[in-house]
Amino acid sequence: MKIHEYQAKELLAAEGAAVPPGKVATSVDQALAAFDSFGGAPVVLKAQIHAGGRGKGSFVGSGADFGGVKYLTSREKVGEVAKVMLAYPLQTKQTGADGQKVSTLLVQKAADIAKEYYLGMVLDRASGVPVMMASAEGGVDIEEVAAHSPEKILKEKISPELGLLPFQARKLAFELGFQGDQVAQAEGIMRALSRVFLEKDCSIAEINPLVVTKEGKVEALDAKMVFDDNALFRHPEIASLRDESEEDPAELRAAQSGLSFVRMEGSIGCLVNGAGLAMSTMDIIKYHGGEPANFLDVGGGANKDQVTEAFRIILSDKRVKAVLVNIFGGIMKCDTIAQAILAAFKEVGFHVPLVVRLEGTNVDAGKKLLAESGLNIAAASGMAEAAQKVVDAARGKK
Ligand code: GDP
Ligand code: MG
Repeated sequence: MKIHEYQAKELLAAEGAAVPPGKVATSVDQALAAFDSFGGAPVVLKAQIHAGGRGKGSFVGSGADFGGVKYLTSREKVGEVAKVMLAYPLQTKQTGADGQKVSTLLVQKAADIAKEYYLGMVLDRASGVPVMMASAEGGVDIEEVAAHSPEKILKEKISPELGLLPFQARKLAFELGFQGDQVAQAEGIMRALSRVFLEKDCSIAEINPLVVTKEGKVEALDAKMVFDDNALFRHPEIASLRDESEEDPAELRAAQSGLSFVRMEGSIGCLVNGAGLAMSTMDIIKYHGGEPANFLDVGGGANKDQVTEAFRIILSDKRVKAVLVNIFGGIMKCDTIAQAILAAFKEVGFHVPLVVRLEGTNVDAGKKLLAESGLNIAAASGMAEAAQKVVDAARGKK
């Protein structure tokens, strides 16, 4: 689960990290009131969406020449820019082409930046522990640094029990080039980041940029956090920060029915049981020249209602030109799933070709049910045949 920048900054500030003064606004009037409360200019208006790259983004259809992060020096401009930000969707390289609607702004007292750094923490699967990453080449282009000069990104493995140790924070601060009392300030922000990451079960927590201001203050200017969904039950205070308007409606609906669903860009809807089979189904569709429209794992014990809901979700996507059901009947028997498919097929009203591949327990009974149904369902034996049939069907070939 992702949260907004202003929420991430509140979590960091609660652990003692320095962040610039900021106020949240959901209307132009509130933005102006926040501006006034800071005693005037300059401020930075920041569109709150879950995607990154806001600074270099654009407001679709607005004709405006600014992105989702705008430095402003007058009250009048704050009003104008806030109006655009709240009216048009913000597109960045992390959103789709349609952009994302902005309903909240962060009005922040502008920092006078002397230098930008990168500070982040992720769970490193290779070493099996969290890693703190830091770079003196911070700011908006950290992806470039990672791709072209990865040696400029410093890394420290963090003990999940002990957290960031004082010598590690000091080492990073020195290697980043902090001097004088900035060393202690930077260490404080690193400790706060490490504590939030470990205590709240983050999978990613980033401060980009971490800045030194011209007055010599070290501050977290931007913050992004992603939390492990499987650990949210331990953190109701984090779960309550969820902003459903930022999430894909189909993914939300699927989650409510206990289905693991991820939307993709292609034209072939997939209904599969088991995450591994779902992954290999997507692979084999691509191998045969098709593009999956989604990842969907109905789980080991899916019932008729879940299968029906899964079909509804898949078919509500206008891009879906054909659907592949790929089920391995283990605990769930193939005839049970065939009955669910038939019931769902009738209830949902299929308007695209359906290819079904069943294997496993009671497979013959399952296939018989489908064959005798008289419905327009193409049976396939084997993954390759199923993939070929559904790719052809999506292209409109018989
Ligand atoms: P992102 O583009 O979504 O990562 O949003 P950020 O909050 O990181 O802002 C992008 C860039 O805008 C930063 O890297 C800064 O260069 C600039 N920026 C953000 N806040 C301020 C500020 O208070 N003062 C100044 N001078 N620049 C800022
Ligand atoms: Mg940023």
